Amino acid sequence: ATPTAIMVATGVGANNGVLIKGGDALERAQKVKYVVFDKTGTLTQGRATVTTVKVFSGMDRGDFLTLVASAEASSEHPLARAIVAYARHFHFFDNPSLAKDPQRNIKELNSSWLFDVIDFSALPGKGVQCFIDEKRVLVGNRKLLTENGVTIPKEAEDFITEIEENAKTGILVAYNDDLIGVLGLADPIKREAAVVVDGLRKMGVRPVMVTGDNRRTAQAVAKEVGIQDVRAEVMPAGKADVIRSFQKDGSVVAMVGDGINDSPALAAADVGIAIGAGTDIAIEAADYVLMRSNLEDVIIAIDLSRKTFSRIR
Ligand code: ADP
Ligand code: MG
Repeated sequence: ATPTAIMVATGVGANNGVLIKGGDALERAQKVKYVVFDKTGTLTQGRATVTTVKVFSGMDRGDFLTLVASAEASSEHPLARAIVAYARHFHFFDNPSLAKDPQRNIKELNSSWLFDVIDFSALPGKGVQCFIDEKRVLVGNRKLLTENGVTIPKEAEDFITEIEENAKTGILVAYNDDLIGVLGLADPIKREAAVVVDGLRKMGVRPVMVTGDNRRTAQAVAKEVGIQDVRAEVMPAGKADVIRSFQKDGSVVAMVGDGINDSPALAAADVGIAIGAGTDIAIEAADYVLMRSNLEDVIIAIDLSRKTFSRIR
């Protein structure tokens, strides 16, 4: 293609909200054989909501939610934001003890309603850890808890399994190394996801899903969007390994992702495609940015490349 053709294609992309960082990326997209999708925030809306709260210890429900929100307050993860929003709402509007005392409610709105947290750390692909009242608090997946020596009682395990079978994510909470409760979060699938997956297949492109989430939730979401090849419980560095494994035979691989945890894979891919609503780090690592955050634009991007470069062959 001539420089003019590339310029025109870049302009057509921009008009559709598809930002292309350079002619090389535009050229590589025509040969894409695999499109690897992240799950959370890419195939799903990344707007999770808490749908289930189960407290196993004798702890008050309000205290449990405040504890979890305190631990998650410094995390930027979509699950963390959903948990904090839910707990805040419960604290100020659904809490029976506060409803009786509006003065206290106003006072707390002006100060922090959260517990004091020290030594916060985010563990990508797993969850968060911090200390509250000198006790360790862990909020995250099974891996996070078991790695830290917390046993998951059968009652809790059964409860999480049920959450996951419904395509939701189960989050476990440990206080002082005891499992004290579980939350279930639902993240709706993007409306266009299934149509895009089907469209790619018709273009001869193979769709794949890679996620840090657990296998059961991943399978349930993949089934809804029509993806058969699912890699679940993959840590951020592992996502890049998945990309490289598809590249081994010389195949051109695209990665579509939104999170910090996707940036190694976006960089490793031949064509890195970031969701515009995603994190800055993902956008920096990518060759394409989908400003509308709409998956249909993955098809537009590949199409545009094919049309631009087929004329000269
Ligand atoms: P994905 O690959 O689907 O975008 P992530 O790698 O971001 O998912 O996270 C994988 C899993 O790690 C989540 O499903 C969740 O179980 C756990 N996790 C990560 N961050 C947090 C957090 N801040 N709070 C709770 N759980 C978390
Ligand atoms: Mg994501």
